[in-house]
Amino acid sequence: MKPEFAEVRTLFDRVSNIAIISHLRPDGDAIGSLLGLARSLQLTGKRVTCVSVDGVPEKLRFLPGAGDIQRKLPAEFDALIVVDVSNFDRIGIPNERLPRKPDLNIDHHPTNTRFAVLNLVEPEASASAEILYDLLLALGFPLDVDVATSLLTGMITDTIGFRTANVSARTLKVAAELVELGAPLSEIYELSLYRRSFEAARFWGLGLSKLERQDAMLWTTLTLNDRHRSSYPGRDDADLINMLTTIEDVEVTIVFVEQDGGKVKVSWRSRSELDVASLADTFGGGGHHMAAGAIITGDLDSVKAKVLSATKAVLDPVMEMGK
Ligand code: AMP
Ligand code: MN
Ligand code: MN
Repeated sequence: MKPEFAEVRTLFDRVSNIAIISHLRPDGDAIGSLLGLARSLQLTGKRVTCVSVDGVPEKLRFLPGAGDIQRKLPAEFDALIVVDVSNFDRIGIPNERLPRKPDLNIDHHPTNTRFAVLNLVEPEASASAEILYDLLLALGFPLDVDVATSLLTGMITDTIGFRTANVSARTLKVAAELVELGAPLSEIYELSLYRRSFEAARFWGLGLSKLERQDAMLWTTLTLNDRHRSSYPGRDDADLINMLTTIEDVEVTIVFVEQDGGKVKVSWRSRSELDVASLADTFGGGGHHMAAGAIITGDLDSVKAKVLSATKAVLDPVMEMGK
């Protein structure tokens, strides 16, 4: 067994009341990892509280146990586990309000800051859920259909249906084993990834109508007004970026989503050469080499101008090299 896994076992042997938390604006890997780990630990008799400060997005509410997720940490717990979180600010609870340093950090972001006592960080994993499967299997913890459903949801959503560059043979083997355990592949695909609301489609339409491109850089904006006009309830881009990355002859795609309180959520996606995680990092965000994000203070136009010029500055040399 990997030495880190053995250390995790020692931790689990020692504690019985566990709190697990994931990141703000949770995605399928955040919620899937949270629920998959929680369910397995519950099956071993532990008391577990799942926390997501921003709640659970509508399209992930089908997951078993999603209704029990809390927005606040419980008053007492003897271990705090953080899943799918690259840096501590992303959990949405100020450091000083935490009674303890997190005991365990399980994540696959290369930008992970290793903020916990024990850090299980594997950047080559396609999703935090993939790491959790390996961990639970190695420790001999229960893997029932509910655990499998949550973990497979984490993998399907983070890899956009197994089509990102970090999907490995191991990813597909883990997915196959989760299907064998009873996880309903096509249903998860449909509910968590493919199906969208009428409002989301209208929101996309407003974003698509403003699509711009300069050489290999493509971008669009979604304003608060767009959100209002389409009645889209979320504060995100309704996954518009995943559609935009299907457009050919583009190296980097950016979506700007205006937020309340003078902030803009920026999402970058790149095609291999350009490292958008370090770009996002310069704006206080983070992520993966090919998918990153940041929340930037400022009005839409000024954030847009700054981000486009910084992105162009790193994109131009990459394009020059390729010529
Ligand atoms: P998004 O563009 O929000 O879909 O995020 C793409 C990737 O970047 C995800 O893996 C996120 O975990 C990461 N990410 C997004 N926003 C932030 C942020 N503000 N800080 C750190 N990482 C982020
Ligand atoms: Mn995530
Ligand atoms: Mn993830």
